[in-house]
Amino acid sequence: MSQEWDLETDLVIVGAGGCGLMAAYAAAKRGIETILLEKDTRSGCNTELASGSIPASGTRFQQAAGIDGTPEQMADDILRKNHGQANRAIVLELCRRSRDIIDLLVDEVGLPMTLNTDSSRYGFSFLRLHNPPGRSGAPLVAALHEALKRFPNVTFADRTPGAGLITDEVGKVIGVLAGADGTERIGAKKVILACDGFGANREMLRRFIPEMADVTCIGAGGNTGDGIRWGMALGASVKHMTGYQGHGFVCPGYGTRLLPEMPMLGAIIVNRNAERFTREDLGYSELAGIVLAQPEGRAVEIFDQRIYDILAPNAHFRETIEAGALRSASTIEDLAVLFHLDPVALRQTFDAYQRDAQARQDRFGRETFGAPLTPPFYGATITGALAHTQGGLSVDIHARVLRPDGSVIRNLYAGGGTAAGISGDGPDGYLSGNGLLSALGLGLIAGEHAAASILGN
Ligand SMILES: Cc1cc2nc3c(=O)[nH]c(=O)nc-3n(C[C@H](O)[C@H](O)[C@H](O)COP(=O)(O)OP(=O)(O)OC[C@H]3O[C@@H](n4cnc5c(N)ncnc54)[C@H](O)[C@@H]3O)c2cc1C
Repeated sequence: MSQEWDLETDLVIVGAGGCGLMAAYAAAKRGIETILLEKDTRSGCNTELASGSIPASGTRFQQAAGIDGTPEQMADDILRKNHGQANRAIVLELCRRSRDIIDLLVDEVGLPMTLNTDSSRYGFSFLRLHNPPGRSGAPLVAALHEALKRFPNVTFADRTPGAGLITDEVGKVIGVLAGADGTERIGAKKVILACDGFGANREMLRRFIPEMADVTCIGAGGNTGDGIRWGMALGASVKHMTGYQGHGFVCPGYGTRLLPEMPMLGAIIVNRNAERFTREDLGYSELAGIVLAQPEGRAVEIFDQRIYDILAPNAHFRETIEAGALRSASTIEDLAVLFHLDPVALRQTFDAYQRDAQARQDRFGRETFGAPLTPPFYGATITGALAHTQGGLSVDIHARVLRPDGSVIRNLYAGGGTAAGISGDGPDGYLSGNGLLSALGLGLIAGEHAAASILGN
């Protein structure tokens, strides 16, 4: 069938978040003519909203800090957390490429990065989170956009959504539909779907993750599952569609959040009855549902000046402070009053926890205690929310989209939230950093593989 194109290019990438930008960079530096379609940068992407924590092993920063840890150990941590549900070969490949990601961002993109040595995370056997300035994803996205400007072979089309895939008579992908009315036809040798998951699509949430369909989603509004639906319509298989990252520390009414580091540094969480109800050092993803199950679906996280000072440079924590979500008091009883909790009950809970922490024998099985909390104290009301979805199109080790029989849909790649993630099913398989590892890692792999195929290598 002959095709009439409005435009033709080598590579079209749909979605300009971490995955799409990284894929574009990898392809552009190999001389590939690339069009990067973005629905709307004004509504932001999850990579921008993230803390920008990128997990890696064997980096220069870890070597300088004397931290050992191999890609295989990192992969074991990820697989232990997801109960062995994720594809082992892909997890291992992403862990092996993790140092390349950090090197590329620092040396080629010019992004200053630091290793977070403040605290570990639940499920980590060694410290591994590398962050852009302010521990925010926004500088990462800005730096990648800036780096792409060096390549005349990249066209960035903002406010130009992808609207579907175009295939030939044998089902091979040969282009995309684009533009506000979806009528523009762009012919391409390869297409990479990098439009994240379906955190902002209530209908898909009701189908795949009903328990999160009606709770707050703190992720970007543009992530409506487009790429996943287009892939499914072509017969692609999907995996781990019930998988998601929850967030247990969202401050309701303030549009902001507390940080996963806090419990690791010593914070505790109590419900409206002023009682602890969980080990606070669990993954923040599974804590979302645990907090939501409490009376009124809310809790109060309590920390102190030491924790406040350690985390003050963090951009997201500063937002929380500036939003007015914190209350402080010099005694536990006064703090209780500020949150309408029973002061006597909170004092009992607090003293019991301090005794447990000192004895390293917590009644909820907590293993990380940080230092004892001392005045002045801080607190914030928290609830559980959905951060982003982790299920998506099945891909192979080169990020090529697969059918249920394992065959490749020709010319089609997926990464980041559009591809099946590495967190398995449900919320508790998510290990801190899994989101950006998949986004940047599969973006890099897809960009490289698509470029090599186009160049005939
Ligand atoms: C609050 C929060 C904090 C997080 N913190 C971390 C963290 O510190 N570390 C970590 O590893 N992970 C973190 N995550 C997860 C991580 O942000 C995501 O997994 C990752 O950013 C996904 O990258 P992506 O490129 O797939 O999607 P995004 O970065 O969301 O980019 C997708 C882009 O595609 C665009 N798009 C969608 N549909 C279309 C279409 N039809 N046409 C064109 N464009 C389209 C969107 O507008 C968006 O710009 C966090 C997530 C949230 C919500």
